[in-house]
Amino acid sequence: MHRQQSAFHAEQARHLQELEAMANKACETCGNSYDKTFEISIGGTTHTFDSFACAIHMLAPRCLHCKAAIIGPGMEARGQYFCCAHCARQWGIQEVADRAPDRGAAVP
Ligand SMILES: [Zn+2]
Ligand SMILES: [Zn+2]
Repeated sequence: MHRQQSAFHAEQARHLQELEAMANKACETCGNSYDKTFEISIGGTTHTFDSFACAIHMLAPRCLHCKAAIIGPGMEARGQYFCCAHCARQWGIQEVADRAPDRGAAVP
């Protein structure tokens, strides 16, 4: 009777562990599964991550020229993303600028 009981507890513990694993979704980038993962919905799909670094790694657009992950607003031109005006210019896009024309005058 005692043996049966402990077998039951072991089974129950295993079941609880399984439930926990199901509740803790794994990060889609690194596979880490813990209780503070979060979801990001983008373009009609939802993704699970354990950290912002992992989310950026998978979801951030990449600069067409230098391949840097664009984690700020970035620039979009002709359907492509660029991290800065310099990179856009390397692809012949002249219309973007890092700063507005100020006639060379610095703020006093
Ligand atoms: Zn991760
Ligand atoms: Zn770039």
